[in-house]
Amino acid sequence: MTKFGPKLQPVRGTHDIMGDKARTFRFINKVFQDIAKRFGHEEISTPIFEFTEVFKRTLGETSDVVSKEMYTFEDRGGESLTLRPEYTAGIARAFISNGLQQSLPCKFFGFGPMFRYERPQKGRMRQFHQIDVEILGVPEPQADIEVLALAVTLLTELNLMASVRLEINSLGDQESRHAYRDALVTYFSAHKDKLSKDSLLRLEKNPMRILDSKNDGDRALVEKAPRISDYYNDASKHFFAEVLAGLDALGIDYTLNERLVRGLDYYSHTAFEFITNELGAQGTVLAGGRYDALIEMMGGPATAGIGWAAGMERLAELVAPDLVPAPARPIAIVPVGATCQAKAIEIAQQLRSAGHRVEMSYRGNMGKRLKRANKAHANEAVIIGEDELARGRVMIKNLNDGKQQEVALDEVLNYLKPYLSLEVKKL
Ligand code: ATP
Ligand code: MG
Repeated sequence: MTKFGPKLQPVRGTHDIMGDKARTFRFINKVFQDIAKRFGHEEISTPIFEFTEVFKRTLGETSDVVSKEMYTFEDRGGESLTLRPEYTAGIARAFISNGLQQSLPCKFFGFGPMFRYERPQKGRMRQFHQIDVEILGVPEPQADIEVLALAVTLLTELNLMASVRLEINSLGDQESRHAYRDALVTYFSAHKDKLSKDSLLRLEKNPMRILDSKNDGDRALVEKAPRISDYYNDASKHFFAEVLAGLDALGIDYTLNERLVRGLDYYSHTAFEFITNELGAQGTVLAGGRYDALIEMMGGPATAGIGWAAGMERLAELVAPDLVPAPARPIAIVPVGATCQAKAIEIAQQLRSAGHRVEMSYRGNMGKRLKRANKAHANEAVIIGEDELARGRVMIKNLNDGKQQEVALDEVLNYLKPYLSLEVKKL
């Protein structure tokens, strides 16, 4: 019993990340960063909290995120701050704050924790992690194709393409959106009595969001609602056709899904999700779209944008464990007796500086120390005893075959060198 209750627990919906999970996150991140750089993206890291307005104004008052999921608090100076629920709004804010319109196009990638007050369940946390990609300042459909190609490259290198399908839609430009919006208002207004309370509110503020509703009654109505493709103007049709032609040229398969509107208010044109059937209800692993209106809406210069975010936890759940490199096997340093301690630390330091992973043995008799070295999967144990040291030598024991070999102190680095190329690339 601790002062905090029977067992000290993390906050609901938050998790400690360690062991295999931490390694999987690191691996996915490494693959992601490598690919993002190949696509010409630069890393960005925006603050974990922003003024509440950054999210409230951009994500839309009726979005799930703003209406019920934000972690908003007043700081000691009385400012309303919000823990970031997603990356895009913060990156758009950073673009404006830093006057980056001089250096368009801007291609960013980022990784980090996001915070949403949701009902915790499998694949749905209150602190989760996203990897994120954005291209600012490219209104051409090439950017849509490129961010999708980046996503496909990532999912391919994580060996996940067989587990996901790409669903894609176009929300059209402003004009098409408005025409569609009017049609939806007319349709849903005629069925007001059957709409959920949330959707009644959406009907007033952003009727397209009703298409995204998870309420069964709403869903039945949505089935018969007007279809967006009937409201595209020529420009929107042309834009979408170019995006799809680009995907075809790259051999990227997709399914058209006219109900896919995305949860946030600032999207136009392309919207897409990579969905899996392997994670139960929380099947969207990567989602994004075009947001040409966002930066201007925030008070910046009109600047096109497109990007996506993927849930790290959901990706990690899908990635096959044997794809994740095992930790490097260490070299064990085993001093025998207190007088050898100083030399042991010196040798460990030399090996570590050369790039080896080194496990130090701290206590116990020789048998116990070697047992622990074996448990740590060490390749070799450098046994440092007084007698050998007096002769300027140490004993090195190969823990794979048990063979021992005396090695001169100034030969240790050289003797263990082969393990560097074997192990050092591992995470
Ligand atoms: P959903 O419809 O599942 O609530 P969303 O539209 O809120 O998804 P986005 O804002 O598009 O999700 O976030 C992008 C990705 O981030 C999601 O596809 C998912 O992989 C991940 N994600 C979103 N919310 C959570 C969460 N609470 N816990 C874990 N991962 C999440
Ligand atoms: Mg959500």
